[in-house]
Amino acid sequence: MEKPHIAIFPLSVGMGHLLPLAEFVKRLCEFHGFSITLIISKWMWTSQQPPLLQRLASSALDIRITEIPHITVDEDEPDMKIETKVSKFVLKAKPHIEEVLLQLSHSSSPISAFITDFFCTDLLDVTTKLKMASYLFVPSSASFVCFMFHLPKLVSEINVSFKDADFEVEIPGHPLIPARDLLTPVQDRSTSAFKWMVHHASRFKEASGILINTFAELEEEAMKTLSTPATPSIYPIGPLMCTETDAPDESSCLKWLDEQPPSSVLFVAFGSGAIFSREQIIDLAIGLEASSHRFLWVLRGYKSGDSSSLETDISQLLPEGFQSRTMDRGLVVLNWAPQVRILSHLSTGGFLSHCGWNSTLESVSHGVPMIGWPLFAEQRMNKVILVRQIQVAIDLKMESTGFVRREEVERAVRELMEGEEGSKARKKMKELKDKAKLAMMEEGSTMKATADAATDLSQRPSLNP
Ligand code: UDP
Repeated sequence: MEKPHIAIFPLSVGMGHLLPLAEFVKRLCEFHGFSITLIISKWMWTSQQPPLLQRLASSALDIRITEIPHITVDEDEPDMKIETKVSKFVLKAKPHIEEVLLQLSHSSSPISAFITDFFCTDLLDVTTKLKMASYLFVPSSASFVCFMFHLPKLVSEINVSFKDADFEVEIPGHPLIPARDLLTPVQDRSTSAFKWMVHHASRFKEASGILINTFAELEEEAMKTLSTPATPSIYPIGPLMCTETDAPDESSCLKWLDEQPPSSVLFVAFGSGAIFSREQIIDLAIGLEASSHRFLWVLRGYKSGDSSSLETDISQLLPEGFQSRTMDRGLVVLNWAPQVRILSHLSTGGFLSHCGWNSTLESVSHGVPMIGWPLFAEQRMNKVILVRQIQVAIDLKMESTGFVRREEVERAVRELMEGEEGSKARKKMKELKDKAKLAMMEEGSTMKATADAATDLSQRPSLNP
């Protein structure tokens, strides 16, 4: 029998969208014998994307990489947000993707389906034209997908900007949520980012299916809401986690963790894109120090003045004397650390996180309770799920500017590591960890959803024009 062949166009801006999709690619190849063509663009690459793609391309798996011509996006509006940039990038990428898909569908091994990121809904025009099955990949929660399906209705019912709405909103399948905690780019109706998000949301229903990085037992309500004939097929294929890393400080982090007592270390990391102000770094440092708990902190530089580069000298970033005062119980790593390995380490007992969905799933999969410090994108929505719905995270009080004071950092760390709320969250996390493990077993929900996705991806023939 011929190998199923599909094409994938990932969003390789930041790592949060690329890492889980890369993991799904591996599973399709390893467990379902797929041949995969990855279509990539180097637009907005950082140093983190090339090693990951290199690893995929040089693996024994049947993966080929095709690059489309370089694209530039004009910043023709002040303070253009990433959602607008990405959406404009996709419009420019469209003819190139069409060309590649056309070639692939006329090749000796024609593709049966196309997968792309949920920010790329405009590529559905291409697959509709080519009469090709197309799937959206969502590296976020099923609750987020519920929100996207409901968004067009929500904006037609509420005619103020969510940022000015002092109430909670009801979204089928999603826990009750303050309007101000909804996705950052939809907060202000006057922005182009708002219009783009509503545009993408209104196109979700056109996809043949939606692949979500979650597992059914984690989000029962959301999954129930999504399983209606009105929505495309839904595949809860997570947790998708990448255990191979290219972290420069990998061995020193793990060696340091080996020397700490079990469950004693708070891991502090804010994903691949967050940059704090100098003031916030200082208050976080002082709060950590005052908590007296052990910590492993991934610190990213901060922008000083108008400079476009980051200040990356750790001793310049931290309060004076901080490192010498905490050297017996704290480790600060610059930029990037092997997060999945840290979360799976026995010494790790808590995670102070920006609630990125990958970080959330990685914490859940390893049973590590969290403190939620959301920054942007859908992270406040994730925090609501973590704190209100599954109750595995401590809430952190923020000022209206988003600033978190040192006293609050200290309180939350103590509560998580030694308080009653922390111990309840730890217990719930353990239960979820077991459920995640079951989902990943042969007869588990994730493996079944992955097999269903593999069948559908390979069986829908491309009807070439
Ligand atoms: N990550 C990592 N080391 C770091 C920071 C992040 O390995 O120092 C990984 C993390 O394990 C996760 C991803 O990068 O898989 C971040 O994704 P997430 O959705 O949590 O946040 P985002 O980067 O999209 O804000």
